[in-house]
Amino acid sequence: MNGKAFNPFEMAQAQFDKAADFLALDEGTRELLRVPLREYHFSIPVRMDSGKIKVFPGFRVQHNDARGPGKGGIRFHPHETIDTVRALSMWMTWKCSVVDIPLGGSKGGVICDPHNLSAHEQEQICRGWVRQMAKNVGPLSDVPAPDVMTNAQHMLWMLDEFEVIHGQRLPGLITGKPVGMGGSLGRTEATGYGVVYTVREALRELGIRPENTTASVQGFGNVAQYAIRLFQQIGGKVLCVSCWDQADQTSYAYTKPGGIDVDALLGITDRFGGIDKNKARDIGYSVLPGEKWIEQDVDILFPAAIENQITAETAPRMGRNVKIIAEGANGPTTPEADAIIGQRGIFVIPDFLANAGGVTCSYFEQVQSNSNYYWEKDEVLGKLDLKMTAAFIAVSELARKRKIYMRDAAYIIAVSRVAQACKDRGWV
Ligand code: GLU
Repeated sequence: MNGKAFNPFEMAQAQFDKAADFLALDEGTRELLRVPLREYHFSIPVRMDSGKIKVFPGFRVQHNDARGPGKGGIRFHPHETIDTVRALSMWMTWKCSVVDIPLGGSKGGVICDPHNLSAHEQEQICRGWVRQMAKNVGPLSDVPAPDVMTNAQHMLWMLDEFEVIHGQRLPGLITGKPVGMGGSLGRTEATGYGVVYTVREALRELGIRPENTTASVQGFGNVAQYAIRLFQQIGGKVLCVSCWDQADQTSYAYTKPGGIDVDALLGITDRFGGIDKNKARDIGYSVLPGEKWIEQDVDILFPAAIENQITAETAPRMGRNVKIIAEGANGPTTPEADAIIGQRGIFVIPDFLANAGGVTCSYFEQVQSNSNYYWEKDEVLGKLDLKMTAAFIAVSELARKRKIYMRDAAYIIAVSRVAQACKDRGWV
């Protein structure tokens, strides 16, 4: 920031410091919550299909477990850094707290690019990660899940390795498992649907009918796809979606005046989620530079890709009619951009509230796995809606009452619960 390279952990700490000031947290609690409780750095040796050994750096960061076992995904990314994982683990703590589920915050990562790895090599990375972490994760201590570029298959390989090591079936180790193998119905939809539950509530508060709204979405992964589907079901129109193009190493924005069609785009998407530009043109889409997603003349922006996307540089280019930003991604908006958004009076549904549907459903999955009794999809989604709506209302009421920015209100609620748990346990 300020010309320096973007550091998500510094950003997470700056956001926390603001909440700590607001809550007048004592020095000890502040010091404890500013940094992770534990972090693990390790090497994962993998025999590649070529016969050569390649060593992949892996991480797990456990930010805080005062409210319950650590919870959070494992990312596979070629540019993963320990500071990204630290920031994400801290955001997981606030995420579980703001929706009031009895879990703490963790995050893991491996520096690797699944685009260039065979299924067998990916399996070895998953099993290697678990062999390094087997003593320090578990159903009662720290529960991993999928995240960027990891999926249900990766989770099942990890679970299998853990169960082999422990000689027992322990499906509560990990969430995001395949349905039928301990996974929960609704988990795939949960994050994207959760984002839209909060948007529905925000629209209700602003007195706007969903059927009169338009949106632009950054990202076309799992979160974006299900957010688009539910947003369309409640009557909204998605005019633009931007997507990463692996071959060109850049992103493109796909627009269609009548609204985009998720199934049509999925039909021309490769196995890594990239949309075929030429085929998109053939079926009536305009293909623009990816950054154009933010400039669309829409009511709602859904950043649902990665961190550091709405910045001091891009925020001034936001469409003039934007009323709501619903952060499906983790950390998409920098503090500098927050200042610009705040001045424009745009209603922000902050990341760790908007995208908490995934971990909330993971919590339901854990409950189901631990009790070996699986719920119907309607039950899962009904409970998810209740949790997300209650969390949204608590945050927006506080924001309104204290006349503060939604992100600050979410932080105040989340941090105060965690600080209280640390105090109650006698840690601070
Ligand atoms: N990786 C997701 C997140 O960032 C889900 C975490 C989980 O389900 O534990 O919220």
